[in-house]
Amino acid sequence: MQPSVSLTPKGLARWKSGHPWIYQSDVSAPKHLLGGEVVRVTDARGAFLGQAFYSRESKITLRWLAWNDRPIDEAYFRERIIAADALRKELFPGETTYRLIHGEADGIPGLVVDRYGDYLSLQLLVPGTEKRKELIADVLESVLRPKGIMNRSDPGVRALEGLAPEKGVLRGSVPPTVPYREGPIEFRADLLNGQKTGAFLDQRENHLMAAQYTQGEALDCFSYLGGFALQLARRASRVTAVEISEAACTNLNANAQLNGLKNVDIVNANAFDYLRDQVDEGKKYDTVVIDPPSFAKNKSAIEAAKRGYKELNLRAMMLLKPGGFLISASCTYHVDEATFEALLDSAAADAKRRVQIIERRGASRDHPVLAGLRETRYLKCFVLRVL
Ligand code: SAH
Repeated sequence: MQPSVSLTPKGLARWKSGHPWIYQSDVSAPKHLLGGEVVRVTDARGAFLGQAFYSRESKITLRWLAWNDRPIDEAYFRERIIAADALRKELFPGETTYRLIHGEADGIPGLVVDRYGDYLSLQLLVPGTEKRKELIADVLESVLRPKGIMNRSDPGVRALEGLAPEKGVLRGSVPPTVPYREGPIEFRADLLNGQKTGAFLDQRENHLMAAQYTQGEALDCFSYLGGFALQLARRASRVTAVEISEAACTNLNANAQLNGLKNVDIVNANAFDYLRDQVDEGKKYDTVVIDPPSFAKNKSAIEAAKRGYKELNLRAMMLLKPGGFLISASCTYHVDEATFEALLDSAAADAKRRVQIIERRGASRDHPVLAGLRETRYLKCFVLRVL
């Protein structure tokens, strides 16, 4: 029989408000549950509300799956995966690189699947998906027919669910680097050792957009594989790409060569120091991109994160020629769009520059945000013109 859990009145209010996560203190669950089960969710009187993944270790005890009592079986996952793939094909006709499954927003909490051409790279982030690893891989193989599937279930958040990190080839075979395209630029990513699932597909549409604002001399800070730098290089006379990881610099260099781009200078340095030195030297640029890693994984680090963003953006504004463009991103969930915009305001004031906001963007459209779950809305990407 399917296990059942009940919600406290507070949990019930949360469920009714449409939030797909219910916390430990709002759930009463039988002791024998191990985590990973699909449970029936009821109110305190036993009336059926829907179904959810159960996590025993996590503070987030329930992750909503369905309002009805349909079986959460192979057919369920197949339907979700086919629907998710259809959306991407509609958004990006002919493209073969995209986020295929973006967790809750695609109806499968705790699952991320990125498609890089013939290969898939996935993350199983909760016991509910971890325990269905083989089932999910079977469905992905039958729907997408990939040459290989990489398992990148090694992000730190797994620990909050009581899951150990895990990575390696799950199905088929995956070469050391995998080719994929973003518009006219070809990339190679290392799905096993690269960051996240291999690359940052959430910035894919922003990479292409940034090229439209580019001319003259460009600076790309926090470059990774050159997602921004190589698109900028199509239009700029020179691009300087700053990246602290040596491995990333090696791959970025290979990607620049792959595309025959000879106007990319790669600097293996700390972007904070590099920006400071460039300001001291009086350097000027036509386009600057700032795309740092997340600065605050929890609330206690927010103030330090805000100082970091302020410093980077202030320096970037000081480096821009009048009329130059700043493309500035933040992927820190705990710094929301309004807070980030306020930091940009204050950087502009300190730089004594008049700054126009041209675009307020988010993650690429293959990273949908689930209404009711603001936690899936983490990436901000502003286009500013600095006068
Ligand atoms: N802009 C990239 C993604 C950036 S992810 C893209 O669009 O694809 C953040 C990158 O910043 C990582 O590659 C990380 O190695 C690098 N990084 C982290 N701290 C850094 C620092 N202080 N200076 C320069 N690079 C840094």
